[in-house]
Amino acid sequence: MPAPPKPWVDANRVYDFVCVLCGAPQSSGTGWDCGPDTSGMHWECIRVCQRGHATLLLMKPNAHQVVEQLPTPNTAPPVEGIPDTNEDIHKLYEEAGRCLTHSAPTGAVMICRKLLMNLAVEHAGASDDDSYQKCVKALVAANHIPTEGHPLADHIRLIGNEANHELPAITRETAERVVTLTSIVLNNIYQLRALSAGL
Ligand SMILES: [Zn+2]
Repeated sequence: MPAPPKPWVDANRVYDFVCVLCGAPQSSGTGWDCGPDTSGMHWECIRVCQRGHATLLLMKPNAHQVVEQLPTPNTAPPVEGIPDTNEDIHKLYEEAGRCLTHSAPTGAVMICRKLLMNLAVEHAGASDDDSYQKCVKALVAANHIPTEGHPLADHIRLIGNEANHELPAITRETAERVVTLTSIVLNNIYQLRALSAGL
C-alpha cells in the first residue's frame, strides 16, 4: 500500500513564479510545503499569489529550485484582428495555448497543424483534401508563411504525420515554436488585414 501523503506545513520561504491567472511575476511566501513526494525527487510547494490564486511548484529537494510549475504559464503570443465571424479560429488558437499551460505539447502541435491546414484552405487556395505538405506549400506561396519559417512548418509534417502511426515525443520547446509560428501566420493574415482596412 502506498504511504499516506506527508502533511502539508506552512510555507517558510519565498519563491518566484509567474501566476498563470494573473499572467504576472510573483514572489510569494504564502502557502504550504510537502515533501518529498513518493518519487523522492520533488518537494511539492503551493504558493498563493497576491490575488489568491494557487500555483503548485515542484521543487528540487534542498536546492529551492523550481523543476516544474503546474499550471505552467501560457506562452502563446497574442494574435490580433481575427473577426468575430472567424471566432472558431480564435478559439482553436486559444486551445493550443491552453495545451501549453497544461503540459500537453502534443495537443498544442496537433491543433496548430489543423489550424494551418484550415488557413491554407481559407486563405491560400488549398483544397479540403490536400495533404499537410501541400497546405504548407500553399501558405508559403501566398506569403502567409515567410520563407524563413518554411523549415519549421515542414517539421510539423514530420511530427504530426498520422499515416506512419508513430508517436514521436514532442517537447514543450517544440510546441512553443509551433504555436509561435501559428501566431505569425494568423497575424500575417488577420492583423495585417485589419490594419490595412479603411485606409
Ligand atoms: Zn494570480
